[in-house]
Amino acid sequence: MIGEEDPRALFQAATDALTRWLEGHRAAAAPGRGAASPDGARDPAAPADVLRALAEGLADGTVRTDHPRYFGLPHASPSLVAVLASTIAAAHNPQLATTRHAPFAAAVERRLVAAFAEIFGLGSNAGGVITGGGAEANLTALVAALARRFPAWQEEGVRALPPLRVYASSEAHPTVSRAVRVVGLGTSALRVVPTDGLHRLKLDVLRSWLEEDEAQGRKVLAIVGTAGTTSAGAIDPLPELATLAERAGAWFHVDAAWGGLLGLVPEERGALVGIERADSVTFDPHKSLAVPLGTGMLLTRHPEALVTAFRDRAGYMPREASQDFYARSLPWSRRFAGAPLHAVLATLGFAGIAAELRRSLALAGRLEAGLRAQGFAVLRPSALPVVCFHDPARPDGRSGGFLQGLAGSVIADGAGWLSVTRSANGQRALRAAVPNHRTSEADVERLLRSLERARARLAQGA
Ligand SMILES: *Cc1c(COP(=O)(O)O)cnc(C)c1O
Repeated sequence: MIGEEDPRALFQAATDALTRWLEGHRAAAAPGRGAASPDGARDPAAPADVLRALAEGLADGTVRTDHPRYFGLPHASPSLVAVLASTIAAAHNPQLATTRHAPFAAAVERRLVAAFAEIFGLGSNAGGVITGGGAEANLTALVAALARRFPAWQEEGVRALPPLRVYASSEAHPTVSRAVRVVGLGTSALRVVPTDGLHRLKLDVLRSWLEEDEAQGRKVLAIVGTAGTTSAGAIDPLPELATLAERAGAWFHVDAAWGGLLGLVPEERGALVGIERADSVTFDPHKSLAVPLGTGMLLTRHPEALVTAFRDRAGYMPREASQDFYARSLPWSRRFAGAPLHAVLATLGFAGIAAELRRSLALAGRLEAGLRAQGFAVLRPSALPVVCFHDPARPDGRSGGFLQGLAGSVIADGAGWLSVTRSANGQRALRAAVPNHRTSEADVERLLRSLERARARLAQGA
């Protein structure tokens, strides 16, 4: 059989590879830059050698987003239990299209969806689906909104629709605009609302645009609030957006792909107030919960809208299918993406997850305080573990050249990986987050020292 002649050698190769990966979190000098030189197709090789080569290629050719000093974009660092749960799930390969084929996996995912819907306060009727990530979740939300509001759209397509608007802020994730495009509304249907100095959607602008719509008899399909912008971690004014959406008869979607993590830390939950009034919520466990990429979720207080949107019939599928995932989500066959999340949650419980997240928030607080003490100007609009900063002491302290110089110097130093970001209003800043649970206080201190040195060197023009 394919690659199964000697399972022991394969397990050994896999164990070696995973052990090196685990040790690499400390041993690797830095998150790396990611070189790639995959071998082309060669002569067939022993499976154990193939696994070894695969692991080596990945070790050399990957920016280690799971590294303790990766201060970059929201990526979790998968825990070993999550990685192994993923592997075991891959081996059993439950077919999640139908509950009948995979009753255990389906029950696990239903429990996960119910637990997270409860965390966000979506009500006892809420449901949802595990998705491949936030992009799929945002698209699913828009499809559900259309199916619920305009049943004729299912049959007649966009011809059945009146002119529609969707609203989101200029800091909303690009997958919102992508979803508007993919469902056929065209990006001109999306009105991008500017943001204030803290990157939050400007309510007065939205209000006046909604009044315009009403005067012109234009319908509003959805208002999208972002809870945790990808760049600065800003949270839109959700209660006001909920009220405006209600008044306009619009679907209220909250993209909490990353910022939803605050809902898991009881004392931070207040930052998300208003999310409980959402029609749907995007949350990405793979951004913050120690699981590998590939686990997102779309939660909704109208699970029946998913069935309206996605139910199809096939002679070989069960007919009474509304509980089957194939009849309520974009994918048909799909992997058991809930397995790693189940493993993390079953290991730590929500209390343990809160404790881990609390550490990251505290480290970001330490980073913020350290940067302020060093004289950087800091933007941190929410408790989310990310800090944007620039050097107000230099006339070019926000220029791409200077900021790239600082980032490049820190990366070359092995002190961490961070990046330059640009907000929708065109202003640049360095962006440093504490996205994963492996970061320690010593890592943050090292980043601060490295920044201080790099800044001093650049000040001397060296
Ligand atoms: C990352 C992100 C997305 C996209 O999610 P993927 O899991 O990468 O598909 C959507 N919205 C926000 C706010 C994000 O941070």
